[in-house]
Amino acid sequence: MKITDVKCFPIFAGSKNYLFVKVETDAGVYGMGEFGISWREKAGIGAIEHLKPHLIGADPLNIEYLWQLMLRGDFFPGGRINTAAISAVDIALWDIKGKALKQPVHMLLGGRLRDRVPCYTGIGGATPEETAQKGLDLVAEGWKFLRLSIPDRDGILDGSAAVRDAVAHFAAVREAVGAEIEICTDVHTRLDPPDTIRLGRQLEPYDPFFIEDPLRCENPQSYRLVRQHVACPLAIGEHFATKWEFRQLIEEELLDYARLDLCIVGGLTEARKIAGWCETHYIKIAPHNPLGPVSAAACVQLDLATDNFGVQEMWHGRTDFLADLFPVQVPYEAGHLLPTDMPGLGVEFNEAAVSNYPYEPASGPRLHRSDGSLTNW
Ligand SMILES: [Mg+2]
Repeated sequence: MKITDVKCFPIFAGSKNYLFVKVETDAGVYGMGEFGISWREKAGIGAIEHLKPHLIGADPLNIEYLWQLMLRGDFFPGGRINTAAISAVDIALWDIKGKALKQPVHMLLGGRLRDRVPCYTGIGGATPEETAQKGLDLVAEGWKFLRLSIPDRDGILDGSAAVRDAVAHFAAVREAVGAEIEICTDVHTRLDPPDTIRLGRQLEPYDPFFIEDPLRCENPQSYRLVRQHVACPLAIGEHFATKWEFRQLIEEELLDYARLDLCIVGGLTEARKIAGWCETHYIKIAPHNPLGPVSAAACVQLDLATDNFGVQEMWHGRTDFLADLFPVQVPYEAGHLLPTDMPGLGVEFNEAAVSNYPYEPASGPRLHRSDGSLTNW
């Protein structure tokens, strides 16, 4: 079998673009991948165009060799955009391998360890009472995990006020849903170490499942300070590209849940290695999934085959998203994603529907401090 083409499909849906990648073969089998760095889709297309000559004519089943070639083949490290491009191709290659061998990808990764994948989705309201009601509604639908965020005030986010608001919302949700529901707080890199420490200490009495990505990714040793002062579990890593960016946090045991983004970190090939490394330190994986149906399917394949799995993000909270483009997606039931026996990833792509979603130039949301300066969204 040989790779004959690598095609990019940037599509706009809802509030942002998604970049899907299709790898075609001379055997008529195709694989789907997804690029993970939102608002940089054109850079992703460019990176994939650079990878394409390495891939055309190669055996798609020889995944590890192609992964190494895409990472190291042109000498200069290509950074996060390149690893997101590699991720898209890698996931498509696993899809092809599964289809070629007539096995779901999780069976190729070692087999099925669980019969369902518990997920969380995000809730938020204008007031703590509104957030609590949304939590109750999701619990009634069957969700066992909920995730809150650090609230802004109409686009303004100051650290101290954000910590107070986040604790008020969390306390209201805990009071409403009781002790049995797991609740996470996603900081989305909006705080610095001192405010993260204040947040962690104030949330502790309400038993958070984890605090997610409090800091940006540039200086991982800042987590040493946070770790010394915060007893709540930490989930970190949705920005990270490759095993090397996880290295320090894993080896120093500065995280409890690895927020692998399969569409940034280097695909299933790299995520599998990081998950194994986490296992040696009793760290679980909690894959990041703010993307489309291919990302969701890849996450579920890894979750099914990984013993040290914690919980899966399901940002859309549904699987009928882009249903005309992906008429077959991962089955969903009551806050859980379910395995299928379909070969490959378990998605089907309808290329004819791409024209329903023309690409639109788009930028990410922004937040400011009350003095007018920019802060992290
Ligand atoms: Mg997050």
